[in-house]
Amino acid sequence: MAVRSITQRWIFNTLSVIVLVIVIIVASSIYGLRNFYYTGVRQSIDSRANVVTGILIRISDDNTIAFNAEFRNLIENSDEKSRMEITAIDRSGRIALSSSGFSYTQQENMSDYEDALKSPNGRGYYVGKNVMGEKIMAVSVTVESSAAEYSAVRYVVSLENVDRVLLFYTLGLSAAGLVIIGLVVLSGSFFIRSIVNPVREVGAAARKFATGDMSARIVKKSDDELGELCDIINYMADEISASEEVKNDFISSVSHELRTPLTAIKGWSETLLSLEGSGEERSNLTKGLRVIDSETERLTGMVEELLDFSRMQNGRLTLVKTNMDILAELGEAVLIYGERARRDGIELAYEEPEMVSPIFGDKSRLRQVFINVIDNALKYSSQGGRVEISVSEEEGFVQIAVADTGCGIAPEDLPKIKTKFYKANQTRRGSGIGLAVADEIIRLHEGELQIESQLGAGTRVTILLPVNRRGETRKTEISTTMEFSMSEEKKEL
Ligand code: ADP
Repeated sequence: MAVRSITQRWIFNTLSVIVLVIVIIVASSIYGLRNFYYTGVRQSIDSRANVVTGILIRISDDNTIAFNAEFRNLIENSDEKSRMEITAIDRSGRIALSSSGFSYTQQENMSDYEDALKSPNGRGYYVGKNVMGEKIMAVSVTVESSAAEYSAVRYVVSLENVDRVLLFYTLGLSAAGLVIIGLVVLSGSFFIRSIVNPVREVGAAARKFATGDMSARIVKKSDDELGELCDIINYMADEISASEEVKNDFISSVSHELRTPLTAIKGWSETLLSLEGSGEERSNLTKGLRVIDSETERLTGMVEELLDFSRMQNGRLTLVKTNMDILAELGEAVLIYGERARRDGIELAYEEPEMVSPIFGDKSRLRQVFINVIDNALKYSSQGGRVEISVSEEEGFVQIAVADTGCGIAPEDLPKIKTKFYKANQTRRGSGIGLAVADEIIRLHEGELQIESQLGAGTRVTILLPVNRRGETRKTEISTTMEFSMSEEKKEL
């Protein structure tokens, strides 16, 4: 279908114009040549007629008999006999004498003679067929002398040879025109094919992509815009395949993450049920309930993270920004992880500063960011490690740094870890969306989340948040992300 339409457009836009131009050039050339040849014939007749008229004027002073005899001699013994026929027309309008000796029995079409009689210069012209059907050019010139028996001299030249030459040129020019059109069609069809074939390939590959087969790739055949399109489509397929892979990893790691606490909860509930009425120690009961409690919390946290992520994807993540004390939220997050750090044998160092300027932000979301970052610091550190949290204020920004001495991140992974679903370290639990959510929340606070890391040495995550310059007077604001990492819609309360 596509082939037909591109070809049709090409025929309409290009070929028709070329054909029109060639037809105009050929037709005007033929017309010009015809004019050139016919004018040549006419000029040669005119010059011969001038000579004859000159002679007739010279002899017109002689007496009638002598004039007519001289006239007859001039016509019958013309030295141009072979090239043109000269005839004399008598006063009744009939051909009375002929240089060829041919006696005209049939009346000729002599519109040139009639025109000559009417014309002030005494000349008339005719181009057309004679009684024999031969193409001729005829010129009639009236005889001025009153002594003459004849009223006009008529010069007739056959145009058959001229027309033969013109026909030869016409055929030659038309053939040249057809050859040019043929070449244009040939090169045009090559050109169209060079566009249509790759486009077809692109279409076939796109159709495969649509059915979920991302293995198809297009072979680049040229280095032009179409080649570039092939490259882009191949690149797009690579990216989609890669993100498919990341998504599959995400699903499997999330499923795994959900299964672990569920297994623990199920195991302990069964144990507790079997303890019922058996009079077993109360300590086991407490232990079991604690595991159930912490694993449920872990599940809730994960589900919350997933929900936030899906809200962000749908542009429905809502922030309630107020004038807030960032140290209170950070202190709470540190408190949550104090017990776990102790259990894991990791030193959690936090020296709370006296005071920092208030921030205009969403308390719970920012606490969530701190929890995410501290959780990562502990998660990717081993026993004996150290996590140091520090806060400072500089140039209108509060800077919160969480530095650990954990496994670190490889330089090639560092630029990607803020991307959704990306996990640089597959050995630890996690969904790969914590940093993506944290980065988005900080971005919505006009802040910045920076990560520096050295593989094997540790990681430092720095959160920069602008201080509230407008002070206490600022009203609470509710903002909703309209599109993930794209824009923010604000509503003042
Ligand atoms: P996850 O839930 O997998 O931890 P995140 O989005 O929080 O997902 O982090 C993305 C990836 O960044 C992690 O899989 C991990 O490889 C890397 N990462 C984040 N924080 C740290 C850290 N403190 N030390 C080492 N690697 C880290």
